[in-house]
This record gives sequence, structure tokens and C-alpha cells, in this order.
Amino acid sequence: MAAPLHIAVCGAGIAGLASSLALSAQGHRITLFDQFEAPRPLGSGLILQPTGLAVLDWLGLGQRIRGLGARIDRLYGKASGSGRVVLDVRYDVLGDERGLAVHRAALFNVLHDAVRAQGIEVETASHVKDLDDNSVILNQDRREGLFDLVVDALGSRSPLIPHAAGPDYRSALGYGAIWASLPWPGAPFDVNALEQRYDRASVMIGVLPIGRQVETAPEQAAFFWSLKAADFEAWRKAGLDQWKHTVLGHWPDCAGLLDTVTDASQMVMARYDHHTLSLPFGRRIVFIGDSAHATSPQLGQGANMALLDVHALAAALKENADLRDALGSYARKRRFHVKLYQGLSRVFTPFYQSDSTLLPMARDHLVSSISRIGPAQKLLARIVSGKFGLPRT
Ligand SMILES: Cc1cc2nc3c(=O)[nH]c(=O)nc-3n(C[C@H](O)[C@H](O)[C@H](O)COP(=O)(O)OP(=O)(O)OC[C@H]3O[C@@H](n4cnc5c(N)ncnc54)[C@H](O)[C@@H]3O)c2cc1C
Repeated sequence: MAAPLHIAVCGAGIAGLASSLALSAQGHRITLFDQFEAPRPLGSGLILQPTGLAVLDWLGLGQRIRGLGARIDRLYGKASGSGRVVLDVRYDVLGDERGLAVHRAALFNVLHDAVRAQGIEVETASHVKDLDDNSVILNQDRREGLFDLVVDALGSRSPLIPHAAGPDYRSALGYGAIWASLPWPGAPFDVNALEQRYDRASVMIGVLPIGRQVETAPEQAAFFWSLKAADFEAWRKAGLDQWKHTVLGHWPDCAGLLDTVTDASQMVMARYDHHTLSLPFGRRIVFIGDSAHATSPQLGQGANMALLDVHALAAALKENADLRDALGSYARKRRFHVKLYQGLSRVFTPFYQSDSTLLPMARDHLVSSISRIGPAQKLLARIVSGKFGLPRT
């Protein structure tokens, strides 16, 4: 085990908050920096897979988050014209395991409350710009440190990525999505399923139950519509009526949900990046979560991968007295799984979000038959659960 270190954790998202908790519990002194003025989560909902839930259990937070989220038994999608099933993944083929869809605010609050309870120093209004030796350079050229280690959890556009020891493989993704958290609409939507509708790969609409933000709040749904980042301004200018008409043409059941969208500002544009650091560490710096690897959320893995990174980093620091050995060990622990899921995401994404006509045609004809075959069902469920390529426990 490394001697207690003074660690700067940069970024108080899922990766930064969870790593602060895990490393502080190991006896390291943590200073956590984020640009936000007051702690706040961004975005709508996400699915925690069995992998991510296991890490939250290990942090002692599983029970609280399960009390807030919505259990997910199935991911189900149909082509809007033909009605063909083009996505059908059931967790029950894996036994008792299930996903859990949560509002980001719920996950943030659970992690942030634990960070506060553990007495971890949180420096808000601290925009991280760079590193200089063992110091972190912040806005207005503030310099903080000396730190033994910097944990970069600043997300996919982190300014610290040039400090990684190896190249960053990065490519642009044209499609993103507009998202909103809306009141849960009830039937005919399934409170335990992510449901989607597609038209080729250029239209994707989703309704995901995300439970409650806090114990006393009403249940919500995340609603999303696939959109190219370059088309967002045109979408905003065209007004809501035309867009609602198009959505209802594909999925009439969304009428009640769309009635609650009264202003375009409720729909937030999420842009997706695909990038992978070949070596997620450098001299006294380590990269976790989206700063190490990011992709489109088609497979619903990003937050879960961030939590797996946290677990691997904590284990590497526990098992190695020397910091350089620990960082190398962290990278080796995560290398295969990260490469596998980055590759799978690259392959799957264009079948569901792209301008291709051939790929969605192949998808529409193949998926409904494939997803009726037992071994294929299990393989798909294992991929979605995040456990594909991890040692069976
Ligand atoms: C629309 C959408 C849907 C998704 N759905 C899923 C899903 O279903 N399942 C799943 O597992 N994943 C999903 N993801 C991916 C998941 O959200 C990310 O993988 C996850 O948030 C990564 O966490 P992170 O902590 O690494 O980074 P982030 O969540 O990006 O956190 C980064 C933090 O750093 C701070 N920060 C950034 N730059 C600076 C700076 N320069 N100085 C100081 N602070 C800074 C930010 O304020 C933020 O708090 C989805 C993503 C999107 C966009």
C-alpha cells in the first residue's frame, strides 16, 4: 500500500466524487476541485448497470441509490414504420441482475452527501486549466499544491489530457441528442423498461423511467430525441410545434409527455465524444472516467466504466507501495475491458445513430430474429450489463 498521499481530484462528476470517497477511505488526503459555483449535477438520466451498482455497493451507497432509481428489466425498441423489434435485451436471462435508471441529480446527491459526510475538502469555482510540476493551475492563475498525485476526472474535454503518457485516439460523433427530465407519464409506458422508437438510424426517440431526484419528489422520465449537434440551432429556431408533430408521427403515445414540454430550453443538447487514452496516466497524474475514455451512450456504459475505473485505481494504490507501479497496475487492470467496450460502442453506434441506410436495414431484419435465440440473448444482456470481458465472480 502506498503511504498516505495528498491527492488533487479534478472534477466532481461521478468519477471525481466516487474516487474521492474511495481514496479518502484508504487514508489519503483529498482536495476536490470543480468549476461549479455551488455543487450541482448536469443532465437528465442514466442507467447504472450491475457493474456500476457493485461499485456503489462497495462504497456503501447501493441501498440509498436503489431507493431512488427505477429498476430496469428490459431495453426494448421498435421501428416506428414497420413495428419490427430492433432492440430487445432482458436482464433476467442473467439471473437476478438488473439495471437501475437514475436521475443524475439523485446519483450526484448520494455521492456528494457521502463526500461531505467524509469531510473531504471541496474547492468550488475552481476551473482547472493546467498542471505545473506538482501544482494544479486554476482560473486567474491561482496555483494549488504541491500534490503527490492528480486524478483527472474532468470529463472528455479535460485540458489535462496532454499530460497523458500516450496518444489520445479521438474522433467526432455527428449525432448527439436533446434530453429532458419530465413527469413520469404512466401507462402505456413500462416503469421497468427503456423504450425506444427508430426510423432508420437518423430518428431515435427514447423514454426512460428514472425514479426520483430525492426521496420525497415525484417520479420522472428522461425523454430524448436524437439530433446532430450541428442541427441544434435550426431545431430551436423551427419551434416546438413542428418537432412535436414529427415525434408524434413516429410515436403517438408520447402526446402526454410532449404536452409537458412548453419551452425549447427544457430540451438540453448533449454532444457525444469518442476518445480513448492509450495510457491513462502520466507523471503523477491518472485519468479516470470520461477523461480516460468516452463514447456515445448507446451501450449505457460511461458512468459504469467511470465507477469501474475508481475501483481499479483504489485497488492499484492499495496493492503497490510505489506510485509509478500503482499507476501502471491501474492501466493494466482496465485496459482490456475499456478497449472491448470502446470497440463495441464504435461498432454498435452507427446501427442506431447515423445517416446510413444500409446499417439500419440490416438491423431491422436481423435483430428481431437474433434476439429470440437463447445464447444471443445472453450475450447481448451480458454486453449491456457491462460484465462482458470481466472475470466472472
Ligand atoms: C445524454 C447522455 C446519456 C448518457 N447515458 C448513460 C447511461 O445510460 N449509462 C452510463 O453509464 N453512462 C451514460 N452516459 C455517460 C455518462 O454520463 C458519463 O460517462 C459520465 O458522466 C462520466 O463521468 P465523469 O465523472 O468522468 O465526467 P463528467 O460527468 O463529465 O464530470 C466532469 C466534472 O468535471 C467538471 N469540470 C469539467 N471541466 C472542468 C474544468 N476545466 N475545471 C473544473 N471542473 C471541470 C464538470 O463540472 C463535472 O462536474 C450518458 C451521457 C450522456 C451525455
